[in-house]
Amino acid sequence: MTQIRTCPRCEKACSLQIDYQGNEVLSVIGHRCPIGIEFAESLFGPPQKIVTASVSVKGGVYPSVPARTAKPVPADKSMAVITAANKLHIEAPVRVGQVLSRNIAETGVELIAVKPIDKM
Ligand code: SF4
Repeated sequence: MTQIRTCPRCEKACSLQIDYQGNEVLSVIGHRCPIGIEFAESLFGPPQKIVTASVSVKGGVYPSVPARTAKPVPADKSMAVITAANKLHIEAPVRVGQVLSRNIAETGVELIAVKPIDKM
C-alpha cells in the first residue's frame, strides 16, 4: 500500500511517498534528508515519543534542569529513560542543548538539556 504524507519536521515540508505493508515501511520517496525516513517509520512502526525528564544539577542556581530525548524513543522505554535521567548528576553551568547522556537507558538516543542553568 502507498500513502502520501507531508514531513512536518522542518520548513521544507517534503511530500513523502511511503510504500508499506502492515507495520513495515518498504520504501520512502521524496525526502531530502534521513529525518523524512525516520518520520515515515514513526507512522508505521511501534509507537515512539520524545521523553521529557529532570536531571539533578550540582552548584547551580536551580537544583535540576529539564531535559528531553534528542529524538523519539520507543514508547515502552519512557519510564526507563525517566529513571535513568533521575540518576544523573550534572555540574553547573548547563547550556541549552548540552548532551547530558549520550545513550540514555540504552536507547541509542541522547538526552539534552532544554534550559540553561547558571552557576551559583
Ligand atoms: S525530509 Fe528532511 S528536509 Fe524534508 S521536511 Fe523532513 S526534515 Fe525537512
